[in-house]
Amino acid sequence: AKSAGRNNYKFYTADLNVRASEVLAIESQFRGALERNEFVLHYQPQVDMTDGRLLGAEALIRWNHPEQGLIGPLRFIPVAEERGFIVAIGNWVIREACRQLAEWKAAGCILPKLALNLSALQFRDPELLSVIEGQLVAYDLDGACLEIELTESVLMDDVEGTLQAVEALRALGVSLAIDDFGTGYSSLSYLKRFKADTLKIDRSFVRDIPQDLDDSAITRAIIAMAKTLNMQVLAEGVETAQQWRFLADEGCDQVQGYLVSPPLPAERFEAVLRDGA
Ligand code: C2E
Ligand code: CA
Ligand code: CA
Ligand code: CA
Repeated sequence: AKSAGRNNYKFYTADLNVRASEVLAIESQFRGALERNEFVLHYQPQVDMTDGRLLGAEALIRWNHPEQGLIGPLRFIPVAEERGFIVAIGNWVIREACRQLAEWKAAGCILPKLALNLSALQFRDPELLSVIEGQLVAYDLDGACLEIELTESVLMDDVEGTLQAVEALRALGVSLAIDDFGTGYSSLSYLKRFKADTLKIDRSFVRDIPQDLDDSAITRAIIAMAKTLNMQVLAEGVETAQQWRFLADEGCDQVQGYLVSPPLPAERFEAVLRDGA
């Protein structure tokens, strides 16, 4: 009912954003792309603000298209959600992330934690838990090396079912982050119910700090709230030293953004891991 309406709205805007012909082209190429392994993950460092230490990374998907080159997720994730490919893509992301973590571990490069983005639709898949558990077992990995980034649309969609899935993930040691905090259908009560480990302040609030006084006040309030709730708080999209300074002064714990590093292909990220950057 209500949640279906929300999803329809989301699909509708996705259609407006992507040209119809492009939607068809992407749709017809999806299966083959998965089979030919044309998707890749890039990795963006997440660092501790107090000492610059690498705490983890976020895995961000790209489509290495044979003719068009590297295609960003905003061009195909909405189409995948609309056309029912998103669960297959999400499962690929989980598999590839675990495979890569195991490869790095075997090479002596330890990444403490890798954060994955999963669509709200993935949480409706009854297989989600067994897929994650299966990959952890197959690659002999601890659940603590994975974090799942949830957006508020995930939290709003079938709250009870999602809570159950989230609790089961926690039991495996997987941690949770609330992504894009402050955008979408915010409800502070979800913060309390989902007990996430990390709150990610959306880039839209970070962009104009410290000049924009409203954004600065909002960012300050989000940091203070996260502290009160005993959550780690991470600022996304940090591009300038001024933004870093403001966030450090306000007691923000972690940072992710171009100032530290853009998302990197696996080989380049591995070099960062080796140098302990
Ligand atoms: P997100 O989860 O909010 O990811 C952060 C986005 O901000 C990424 O864009 C990243 O490249 C970009 N970014 C990072 N630092 C900076 C910065 O300092 N400045 C600016 N301007 N941008 C920065 P990207 O990779 O294009 O991903 C866009 C969105 O696509 C993601 O937003 C996420 O919602 C979705 N996405 C990415 N990978 C996956 C995936 O594997 N599965 C699903 N379901 N969604 C994904
Ligand atoms: Ca994310
Ligand atoms: Ca985000
Ligand atoms: Ca976002």
